[in-house]
Amino acid sequence: MRVYNFAAGPSTLPLNVLEQAQAEFLDFAGTGMSITEISHRDKAFGAVVADAEALVRELLNVPDDYCVLFLQGGASTQFAAVPLNLMHTGVADYIVTGNFAKKAWQEGCIYGTANKIGDSSDKTYTYIPDVDTLNYTPGADYVHITSNNTIFGTRYTKFPECDAPLVADMSSEIFSREIDVSKFAVIYGGAQKNLAPAGVTIVIAKRSLIQDPLKICPTMLKWKVQDENGSLYNTPPAFSIYMADLVLKNLKAKGGVKAMNEIDVYKAGLLYDFIDNSSFYHNYVVPEYRSIMNIPFVTGNADMDAKFIAEAKKNGLVSLKGHRLVGGMRASIYNAMPVEGIQALIDFMKKFEMENK
Ligand SMILES: *Cc1c(COP(=O)(O)O)cnc(C)c1O
Repeated sequence: MRVYNFAAGPSTLPLNVLEQAQAEFLDFAGTGMSITEISHRDKAFGAVVADAEALVRELLNVPDDYCVLFLQGGASTQFAAVPLNLMHTGVADYIVTGNFAKKAWQEGCIYGTANKIGDSSDKTYTYIPDVDTLNYTPGADYVHITSNNTIFGTRYTKFPECDAPLVADMSSEIFSREIDVSKFAVIYGGAQKNLAPAGVTIVIAKRSLIQDPLKICPTMLKWKVQDENGSLYNTPPAFSIYMADLVLKNLKAKGGVKAMNEIDVYKAGLLYDFIDNSSFYHNYVVPEYRSIMNIPFVTGNADMDAKFIAEAKKNGLVSLKGHRLVGGMRASIYNAMPVEGIQALIDFMKKFEMENK
């Protein structure tokens, strides 16, 4: 029996996509081979990469002077690739709004002066600093943000309007809201949150800004080289790219990012409304910055939280344990989580509250 999976990543995928992958697993596109067996130089696979790229461009309205790359190593590898491709003068700004933002900043510190110009750790990352009043470093190579903070459940509602190129880690929200790609120099994200199984990382970068990577940049991390080779410089994560293509086709069929965002906002609203109207459950994020993808909540009693997680699991609602840094619960409700999953969670929360209050 399939459960409702609230994991933060790897996370739930659309059932019809999983079924399609299953149906064509042994014979992909009439090749007589599985997608996991064919050469990445095979025409059939080339068509998959081209289609996935075209869909990213269409669904996010990516300008023509940007490349779309499918890379390996997860978002964490991009924490290094960002400075290695962009840190020409050796100075960059970082806004630290959570654990992944901190890791990105720490990686930046390896290659130059990474200024932490914003930091919401003073209130356990429950808000996003006001981007209009930060001290951006004049002449910085870039400003790095984490647009949705997976562990703490916050997201930017407004992006920095800075002179330096803006770089955003959008791992846990890409394709959940419309964005103006032209306002960013680079957008990147690991696929395993809202796009595909783990293994592929998407990078969208303005070509004019990536032509001069640092001398020490490993070839594999040079976005320019990856772009010149159509993401096929070496063997790509073929299965994950194929799954991303199926998920993107599915997203397009459902009306694209705008339509998906309406559903995502509705789903998150159901859960936040329920939590806000309950005296048993709490979410501590400043409402303005609440994520529509990752919703942490607590009862205020660690033993009660543990009981909640265990009983929820028995009811087919799994992976609700909060990140080890924050404890409590977290419901990750990515695009693939159906409204019925949210309703089932709320029904269970009501029942659990009545039994344990
Ligand atoms: C999950 C996540 C990462 C790390 O991704 P990996 O692919 O595991 O390296 C980085 N940033 C954000 C915002 C994430 O949610």
